[in-house]
Amino acid sequence: MVNEVAVISGKGGTGKTTVCVALGMLAGDIVIADCDVDAPDVHIILNPSINTKTDFIASKVAVIDENLCTECGLCEEACRFHAITNSKVDPIGCEGCGVCAHICPEKAIEMVDRQSGYLYDSETRIGPMVHAKLLPGEGNSGRLVTEVRKLSTKIATDKNISTVLIDGSPGIGCPVIATVTGIKLGVIVTEPTLSGIHDMQRVSELLQKFRVKTTVIINKYDLNLENTKAIEQFCERNDIEVLGKIKFDSIMTKSMVAAQTLPEYAPDHEISHLLRQVWKRITEIIPE
Ligand code: SF4
Ligand code: SF4
Repeated sequence: MVNEVAVISGKGGTGKTTVCVALGMLAGDIVIADCDVDAPDVHIILNPSINTKTDFIASKVAVIDENLCTECGLCEEACRFHAITNSKVDPIGCEGCGVCAHICPEKAIEMVDRQSGYLYDSETRIGPMVHAKLLPGEGNSGRLVTEVRKLSTKIATDKNISTVLIDGSPGIGCPVIATVTGIKLGVIVTEPTLSGIHDMQRVSELLQKFRVKTTVIINKYDLNLENTKAIEQFCERNDIEVLGKIKFDSIMTKSMVAAQTLPEYAPDHEISHLLRQVWKRITEIIPE
């Protein structure tokens, strides 16, 4: 059985990806999955070599055959998304509902596959990686996340790897819901700011709604000890384990600038040691 562990954050900028790739490096035998499909960045640090690139087709778009169209205007009237003007379809505005194709008396409209992005199966120095890219203006990020998870789990199963480590999207929207449904463990990376606390609470509520065991890492905890205490109190009240508190240190940024995970850049740094303890604790929690 493959266990999925997702590193998420209620908001951007908490250090989620930095922590996730550091844990991935320390974990060793994992598949890493970048489910932040709207703004993927794990590839920048892990520089994957791509095995396969697959088109992601999530919907259809209307295409009018000018040779058949009599410019009667019925489709323009029928399109509630106002995606047709002067018998021309705006592919960005088209939602792929198919109403125009249905009502066109000349059968001049065809619904064709719409390319929404790409799915990649890659190799990195820390193991197999699955990642994706959503094309500009495309929706369906939740479905693409589902594809990333499906492929990651398949690769893990095929290679007899027990854990998929997911870098999730920030926020609590559709891609996050697609990320956390059915996972074994959620690791929320938060920071001691008022917005950090608020967003951590929202995403922890989401995890608990989906009955996902929830843990927290407080990043840059020493920047505001009062807010850190508030996070710890919230976690205690809600039976959420705080896996670790990371102090503010520019070495985190320096490792990212060097395109390295922290344990590669500074293996003996105290934060690398702390993250080793965090991963050890995660491996203890997963089988529970
Ligand atoms: S309904 Fe068909 S024939 Fe009429 S304008 Fe649209 S595409 Fe052309
Ligand atoms: S498929 Fe739907 S949204 Fe797209 S142009 Fe036709 S009616 Fe409009």
